[in-house]
Amino acid sequence: MIIDLRSDTLTKPTAGMKEAMFTAPVGDDVFGEDPTINALEEKAAKLFGMEAAIYCPSGTMTNQIAIRLHTRIQTEVICHKYSHIYLYEGGGIMANSLASVKLLEGDLGKITADQIKAAINPDDVHAPETTLVSLENTMNKGGGSIYTLDEIKPIRKVCNETGLKLHLDGARLFNALAETRESPADWGAQFDTISICLSKGLGCPVGSLLLGSKADIKRARKVRKSWGGGMRQAGFLAAAGIYALDHHVSRLKEDHARARTLGEMLLKLSFVSEVFPVATNIVIARLERVTPEEFMKKLSDQQIKSVKFGPDLVRFVTHLDFGDEQLEEFGKRVSHI
Ligand SMILES: *Cc1c(COP(=O)(O)O)cnc(C)c1O
Repeated sequence: MIIDLRSDTLTKPTAGMKEAMFTAPVGDDVFGEDPTINALEEKAAKLFGMEAAIYCPSGTMTNQIAIRLHTRIQTEVICHKYSHIYLYEGGGIMANSLASVKLLEGDLGKITADQIKAAINPDDVHAPETTLVSLENTMNKGGGSIYTLDEIKPIRKVCNETGLKLHLDGARLFNALAETRESPADWGAQFDTISICLSKGLGCPVGSLLLGSKADIKRARKVRKSWGGGMRQAGFLAAAGIYALDHHVSRLKEDHARARTLGEMLLKLSFVSEVFPVATNIVIARLERVTPEEFMKKLSDQQIKSVKFGPDLVRFVTHLDFGDEQLEEFGKRVSHI
């Protein structure tokens, strides 16, 4: 048995999800006529108390569309230096929106209202105009760390006072909400746009949603079209999203519990000096005396897959296809290393 903990994107659709996909009613979504996509978009918008939503092939596309909506040429985005939108989206802020970026530091990948306030550029001929703040919850490079609403509200206040837009890369927002028990609608009330991934912990083969105002989502449809993301009978894929929202949200806490146990197992190894606080489904281990490559080779000899996450870091992500049996097996195999 291969134990694949490289990412929560590696899951395969469950039997129930496949059934929902095969039986979905479909139509041409570029004509706005795919009933399953329309139902998914309406369901998600309603859940977050936002006016509208658009279904896209990836979270990179939903984030990049949001950046396009909230910036123009010669404007600037404020985000943490470990943000997915900056590190892992192919330079899209520059390539897609001709915008600049100001990177902030902060523990576990998080930034504060005071830092943001201080990072807003003056109205000055030398500086790009700051128009957008982008946050990430959970924070991938922060070890799956969580923002709470109490941390978001002061940031929203700064944005209101200064006329900045606020976007959330909520690829794993449902993981955060599973722990804090905060409601999607309370989060929807704080942001101009939110991106949600269906293909991570929720276990869909494809898909992300961008949520926002009716006006923003209407513009988003044009941006998506120009980037080649207008799909046709994609309701077969959207059906997986509806199924996941109904069946795979409440089980996320199981992934978190297994991640905590996995973190404890790793900490027992003599060459693991630290495990980042395990807040959700991401476990990052810091190594001493061995390199990530050496540790990962030993793991792969035991048929365990992980990813290098820095010069002395290795990342593990728990997910739908990693159950108690796999966890127990992981413990057995790792104890041989
Ligand atoms: C996975 C992920 C995305 C989007 O990734 P896609 O692979 O393009 O769907 C965005 N932000 C974060 C934090 C992610 O983990």
